[in-house]
Amino acid sequence: MLGGMSWESTVPYYQIVNRRIAARLGGLHSAPLVLWCPDFAEIERLQHLDAWDQAGALLVAGGRGLVAAGAEVLILCTNTMHRVADVIERELPIPLLHIAEPTGAAIRAAGLRRVGLLGTRFTMEQAFYRERLVDRFDLEVLVPDAEAREAVHRIIFDELCRGIVRDASRDRLTRIVEALVARGAEGVILGCTELGMLLGPEDVDAPLFDTTRLHAEAAADALLVEHAAS
Ligand code: GLU
Repeated sequence: MLGGMSWESTVPYYQIVNRRIAARLGGLHSAPLVLWCPDFAEIERLQHLDAWDQAGALLVAGGRGLVAAGAEVLILCTNTMHRVADVIERELPIPLLHIAEPTGAAIRAAGLRRVGLLGTRFTMEQAFYRERLVDRFDLEVLVPDAEAREAVHRIIFDELCRGIVRDASRDRLTRIVEALVARGAEGVILGCTELGMLLGPEDVDAPLFDTTRLHAEAAADALLVEHAAS
C-alpha cells in the first residue's frame, strides 16, 4: 500500500482490507501487506506547485521499497495521486490496481451511466481520472460548478486530511450532491479517499460510490485470488 495520502484515509483502507480477508477466510486470517507512507505535507506541496513529476518520483521510490519488501500487487490509497499512475506502472515491476477500475465497475454493475464526481480540484478538473471513467466504462461524468469545487477541495485539505469532521461541511457537501443530482447525476463518486469520513448513504438519496471502500475491497479480493492459487 502506498498510503498516507492522507493518513486519515489509510486507516479505513487498512481496516476494510483486513476485515474482508477475515470475513472470507475466517479465523485469525488477515491481510499480508506492507505499507509505505510519505510525509503528506510534501505531497500536498508538490501537488499545489504542479510538480507532478517530482511527486511521482517520490511515490516510485516508495513503491520500490514495497517491492523489495515482497509486495506483489500495489494500491495507491488516494485518487489524486493517480495523476502519476502511468509513471508508477512504467517504473515498477508489479501491477498497480487502479482506483478508477473498481469504481467504474461498481457504477456499471449498479446499472448507472451518468455520475457526479467529488474530489480534490485536481481530480475534478484534470483529465486523468474522468477520462479513465469515460474511456473504459463509457460513463458520463459531471463535476460541480467552480465555487462548489473550491469548497470540496478546501474541506478535503483544511478539514478531512487533518481529521476534522464538521456538520456544516457535511451540509455543504449534501447540497453539492443534490445539485449534481438535479443536473442529472444518477449517483455520485466520493472520488477522494477522505470523503467517506464526512458523507455516507444516510446523508443523501443518491447512490454513493466510495472509492476507499471499493478500492480496498478490490485489493482484498486480489489477495484472496493469490491465496486461493497458493
Ligand atoms: N486522499 C485524497 C484523494 O483521494 C486527497 C489527498 C491527496 O491529494 O492525495 O484524492
